[in-house]
Amino acid sequence: MATINNNFLKLPVSYLFSDIARKVAKYREENPDASIIRLGIGDVTRPLAPAVIEAMHKAVDEMACSETFRGYGPEHGYDFLQKAIIENDYLPRGIKLEMDEVFINDGAKSDTGNIGDILGLDNSLCMTDPIYPVYVDSNAMCGRAGELTPDGWSNITYCPCNAENGFTPTLPTSRVADIIYLCFPNNPTGTVITRAELKKWVDYALQHDSIIMYDAAYEAYIQEEDIPHSIYEIEGAKRCAIEFRSYSKTAGFTGVRCGYTIVPLELTARASDGSRVALNALWNRRQCTKFNGTSYIQHRAAEAIYSEEGRKQIRETISYYMENARIMRDALTEMGYEVYGGVNAPYIWLRCPKGMSSWEFFDYLLHGPHIVGTPGVGFGPSGEGYFRLTAFGTRENCIEAMHRLKALN
Ligand SMILES: *Cc1c(COP(=O)(O)O)cnc(C)c1O
Repeated sequence: MATINNNFLKLPVSYLFSDIARKVAKYREENPDASIIRLGIGDVTRPLAPAVIEAMHKAVDEMACSETFRGYGPEHGYDFLQKAIIENDYLPRGIKLEMDEVFINDGAKSDTGNIGDILGLDNSLCMTDPIYPVYVDSNAMCGRAGELTPDGWSNITYCPCNAENGFTPTLPTSRVADIIYLCFPNNPTGTVITRAELKKWVDYALQHDSIIMYDAAYEAYIQEEDIPHSIYEIEGAKRCAIEFRSYSKTAGFTGVRCGYTIVPLELTARASDGSRVALNALWNRRQCTKFNGTSYIQHRAAEAIYSEEGRKQIRETISYYMENARIMRDALTEMGYEVYGGVNAPYIWLRCPKGMSSWEFFDYLLHGPHIVGTPGVGFGPSGEGYFRLTAFGTRENCIEAMHRLKALN
């Protein structure tokens, strides 16, 4: 008799984006003339950089010729991209990596969701709240998160991030966390962590033999000096952290699919017989069995980002989004909103005015100025009373949305 993985039945259905879509569709049906501005999506809108397009065309042509055709790629990914990553993303920050430490993948969602395959189910977890839902759900699916209670999953320690603590999570004290998920710059709050604060987490992990899963998907959006781009800028992090990066937000690859994960050779964890085992070897084994790699064409597309032209072009696109963020931040601040994020990340996180809940403010914006954003509570209980706007829209829409809000005041 075949049975299912019962853990899937414990997962609450995520209503967030379907609820938003349903509310917007209903409003549109009742108000066909309303011009609705969508500032809720977490997806990019600008096209790929010309250097990327050119590299992809060239790679496609190579696939048309028997001399240059490529079949299955190397298991870690092609070395030209590993090399470009090491030389461009890490060496300039004083971080030395071996080729074997870089795993090319199809994006950060897959690897942040799959990394748990190589770790014991008895590890306790620590997550910041609000949070990108993949970390929680992927652990719930294999049973590691425990049982869902009114206070959240029984095996997860939640670290609230809110205005009161400056969106800086504090170290868990109630129980030791074996696996810790951190995402900076943060989605959804758009806030960052300082080097001194990140060092506290690295020191905690080294002291307690924990592992930090560091999601740096928005690293390219950091504008201020002195904000860490990689966790490996912190001494000792290679012994306790895995870092996830993605070209999705960096270079508009949400539809192309390419990213990478760093699993340092020094990183080990305990086996049931008490011996230490390198996670790099386990992850390699896991990927060789279950992951098919990302295509040669995608590799060449990603490599093009590191060319002089490519670098300039993706920087322009990031500047476009960050100027959107600045416009919204300034306008909202001027209107008296309490605004966070938007300086080193493409997300604005604001406190709902007049004590409104996240969903009340959602309805208020949809019905009044016809603006769609994302209710903060959808990312976790500590998001209640907050609201996320993204800077990934068009300039015209950002400006128009701010005009409409001002007219309400
Ligand atoms: C968008 C995003 C990613 C990247 O996902 P991909 O699978 O690479 O497209 C990872 N982490 C967070 C927090 C994100 O918002």
